Amino acid sequence: RTVYLNGEYLPEAEAKVSIFDRGFVMADGVYEVTSVLGGKLLDFPGHLKRLARSLSELQMGNPLSDDEWLAIHRKLVELNAIDEGIIYLQVTRGNAGDRDFAFPAEDTPPTVVLFTQSKPGLAANPQAKTGLRVISVPDLRWSRRDIKTVQLLYPSLAKMEAKHRGVDDAWLVEDGFVTEGTSNNTYIVKDGKIITRQLSQDILHGITRASLLRYAAEAQMQIEERPFTIEEAQAADEAFFTSASAFVLPVVEIDGAKVGNGSAGPVATRLRELYLEESLKSAI
Ligand code: PMP
Repeated sequence: RTVYLNGEYLPEAEAKVSIFDRGFVMADGVYEVTSVLGGKLLDFPGHLKRLARSLSELQMGNPLSDDEWLAIHRKLVELNAIDEGIIYLQVTRGNAGDRDFAFPAEDTPPTVVLFTQSKPGLAANPQAKTGLRVISVPDLRWSRRDIKTVQLLYPSLAKMEAKHRGVDDAWLVEDGFVTEGTSNNTYIVKDGKIITRQLSQDILHGITRASLLRYAAEAQMQIEERPFTIEEAQAADEAFFTSASAFVLPVVEIDGAKVGNGSAGPVATRLRELYLEESLKSAI
């Protein structure tokens, strides 16, 4: 695999960063994941916008222009012959020279890393038909989940808890309400209405979420942005989640209780088709 590191395209084994990088010792950095279908980037402007916001919230400069980010993404797709897959992008505060809680000098160059992951069959994922099973766990993350930081230990622990319990993922719960999934935004459907938590610092502002809600509104579907509980989700007609790498996937069981009739529902199925169709139109 050819990867990108600070201006160079390198074989992955030659891409090395300092052990003093703030990303390594402090989880001081942000990331984005963009999906690739048919060699094209989905929702790319949205990902760049969120990247700029995450960087700014952490008082980091944006090291590259939007055109430069696009050129790197395209080059990696080409060099690695990616048809279906994802591109991971990470910017960390760089090599501080020593470990220190205070930020390094302003002129310290950030570390910029991008790599691809080929995922043939991403769009034809059989889980879109079978659905996924989830458990609920307390949301013990920090309070700025709207910033897409590389600080992913708690979501990773929650994912492992789900795996140990024989299911696919975990939904995070705070003050009695679902915030989001370990790496996705969560939704329920009741009487045809799509219900999803409103944007705030409590959740990541999903790029897939934003596009999907726009497409759903254009298709005259009803949307309500508010928090919901696990009990309400278990009693809903359908449940599903969205993320850049999964698009839209149904959830058919929550904490052992079947949602609806326990199989992928019509709304989630339609929304997946709608998302794939519409986002491919604006893919670049
Ligand atoms: N919430 C969390 C916590 C996530 O990690 C992700 C995926 N990175 C999402 C939501 C979905 O965001 P997006 O649609 O931009 O991938």
